[in-house]
Amino acid sequence: MNKRVLITGGAGYIGSHTAVELLGAGYDVVIADNLSNSDISSIEGIRSITGRDVDFVEVDCCDREAFARVFERYEFDSAIHFAASKAVGESVSEPLKYYRNNLLSLINLVDLMREYGRRNIVFSSSATVYGEAEQLPVTELTPRKSATSPYGNTKQICEDILRDSVAAYGTLNGISLRYFNPMGAHPSALIGELPRGVPNNLVPFITQTAAGVRECLSIFGDDYPTPDGSCIRDYIDIVDLARAHVAAIERMTGGRSKSSYEIFNIGTGRGVSVKELVEAFERVNGVKVNRRTAPKRAGDIAAIWADTTLAGEELGWKAERSIEQTLDAAWRWEKRIRGLK
Ligand code: NAD
Ligand code: UDP
Repeated sequence: MNKRVLITGGAGYIGSHTAVELLGAGYDVVIADNLSNSDISSIEGIRSITGRDVDFVEVDCCDREAFARVFERYEFDSAIHFAASKAVGESVSEPLKYYRNNLLSLINLVDLMREYGRRNIVFSSSATVYGEAEQLPVTELTPRKSATSPYGNTKQICEDILRDSVAAYGTLNGISLRYFNPMGAHPSALIGELPRGVPNNLVPFITQTAAGVRECLSIFGDDYPTPDGSCIRDYIDIVDLARAHVAAIERMTGGRSKSSYEIFNIGTGRGVSVKELVEAFERVNGVKVNRRTAPKRAGDIAAIWADTTLAGEELGWKAERSIEQTLDAAWRWEKRIRGLK
């Protein structure tokens, strides 16, 4: 069996951690990334952690001709598609950038996989497809809600493109992984999240505030219908999340897949509030995070967390790292990139 996996967007946050876990599990990887939201240093980080070589190709997956050359050059049966633009707010002001990049890159990937006779595709989806769910936790059968941003809409459309292509062409397997809230960094602190500009996500905002890069964390809303009034999310450690991709690849290459298109929630199954997360960060790392209550952020839902039964039963995967381990790694990564002791 060919044990090489194509990782589009593999220089990014989730892709780089997934590359490490795949290499650790004995796979070879080829990373295809246009570095539009990442830095080549993450490839060095992957090499340092694993001691393994990594093939890296700088390419835009929207450029079909250039992307096809990766298929010409490398043999692989499986691809994991991380390449996408992901800033929700920017997607509202620049919808075409999001529809073009996120849809075209997936369409090209699926098309080339067919053309070159490659079988397995894992797609990075998101819990955002559930919107504000009526019942918690959400299972994979919880209905999707109309997307509230172009970004969220691209995730729904991409899931559908993959589902329909698998059904129509008969040669492909697809798995959509619906990530909840990824956080943290590799325990080595050699790779982690590198947001450009002001972070949109909670954890990088916390670590940058603790590091003195940001003055004060805004906690968006304190009168949500939750026990402490702040929003509840399901925060999943980045290494656990990366391992879910290895499990998905093993399912598809090991012939265990019962159907050729499947969806799995990837979370911890536990909801944690914004305030609880900030307090945990302070406790674990012994640092203070300046914070204030701010108005609600448009489009935020009060609470969501995952039912992860299906991933446990079918992928044999579950989240293992504690919030303490994750927040410790997140802080060591932030200190390393800021040159702090
Ligand atoms: P990221 O921005 O760190 O990584 C994405 C990578 O894709 C970057 O390295 C970027 O340079 C590359 N890229 C973008 N467009 C490209 C293109 N056309 N061709 C080649 N490379 C391209 O983001 P991430 O957090 O690692 O997210 C990875 C995937 O997971 C994305 O699809 C994202 O939508 C999805 N996702 C992320 C989260 C999250 O909170 N981080 C949650 C749910 C889903
Ligand atoms: N959040 C916050 N302050 C910030 C960033 C985020 O209070 O600076 C809250 C946000 O309202 C949400 C949670 O943290 O309840 C997670 O937000 P994030 O953007 O990280 O992920 P989302 O769940 O929106 O995808």
